[in-house]
Amino acid sequence: MSFSKFNKLFFLPFLLVGMLFSQAVRQPDYDLQRQKMVQEQISARGVRDPALIKAMQKVERHRFVPEKYRALAYTDHPLPIGEGQTISQPYIVALMTELLELHRTDKVLEIGTGSGYQAAILAEICDSVFTIEIIPSLGQNAQQLFNELGYHNIHCKIGDGYLGWLEYAPFDAIIVTCAPSKIPEPLKEQLAEDGRLIIPVGAAYAQELVLLTKQKGKLIHKSVIPVRFVPMLRSGGGVY
Ligand code: SAH
Repeated sequence: MSFSKFNKLFFLPFLLVGMLFSQAVRQPDYDLQRQKMVQEQISARGVRDPALIKAMQKVERHRFVPEKYRALAYTDHPLPIGEGQTISQPYIVALMTELLELHRTDKVLEIGTGSGYQAAILAEICDSVFTIEIIPSLGQNAQQLFNELGYHNIHCKIGDGYLGWLEYAPFDAIIVTCAPSKIPEPLKEQLAEDGRLIIPVGAAYAQELVLLTKQKGKLIHKSVIPVRFVPMLRSGGGVY
């Protein structure tokens, strides 16, 4: 074997490993990152609902995150989605969803579609999801993504979620992903008997997560944890 031939053969494995590595850098292994996220951020913190775990293992969070933040899609943080809004931290999505104690046949209302990620998680668990977004561009982007991903059980509306969605009320569960200073009366009214409402309530960027349950027409109030959500906006400007 000539020296030059030996040289080529010697370097071949390194070349192959290098090529594979650069391929991996170009195409991150989102599936692996997602399974790790569920294990380390969701299961390890006590979330147990099997349907929810399955949904979080399946829904491709990176598809709901702007291109430039995709590498961070499975990290333990909220991320910007444009228009000054954010997609919630994965654990907060899981915690709020688990507290709703969802069943397959439940009809769920979400206020604050944003990226659409939370709605997609709900749509994996329940037959029908209704979601309202006040910022048209975000609502339209989410609707397009739902179509692309085949979520035909998510019904979208651009409008002020403070008012709920009377046409389809009552709802078995309501989840609010933006924070008003008080719980909107229309949402309390649109909650079904035995229904659950999860909502961040309080001053801008410093709220408590509240779980309301309707039993025999009365609302039972439970504080969960302190949270930081974007404020609930009024359609004419300002916040609730
Ligand atoms: N659930 C979203 C989180 C988005 S952040 C997700 O999974 O990505 C909260 C969203 O609530 C923002 O998109 C914001 O525009 C929207 N929002 C704020 N006030 C609202 C209102 N009054 N009605 C409906 N949506 C509202």
